[in-house]
Amino acid sequence: MEHLSTEALAHLVDEAPRPEEAEHLAACRTCASELDALRAQTRALASLPEIRPPLGDWEVLEARLRSEGLVEDPLRQRLAAVGRDIQPHLLQREHGILGDRLAVARGHAR
Ligand SMILES: [Zn+2]
Repeated sequence: MEHLSTEALAHLVDEAPRPEEAEHLAACRTCASELDALRAQTRALASLPEIRPPLGDWEVLEARLRSEGLVEDPLRQRLAAVGRDIQPHLLQREHGILGDRLAVARGHAR
């Protein structure tokens, strides 16, 4: 008989073996010790404290993610999308600050 698959061993960490699996485990030291190792690993992982992100640091994190280009400013994205269809100098004349932001978003500082 072949050794038990990794998937079968993973199921056996917290489920009862089927008769043929129990028979194999009784006869095969390789699979029995692999299952023991998986169970020990599962217990060790379960005993670790839960890790949570620090509370209240979102603004700091967000600023850093933006500076690294990992997140985009939604307003900037929207203005950039609008700017594809509308000339920024027209918006600047008509909407003042919106036009300024659009120019910044499109990389045209005034
Ligand atoms: Zn085996």
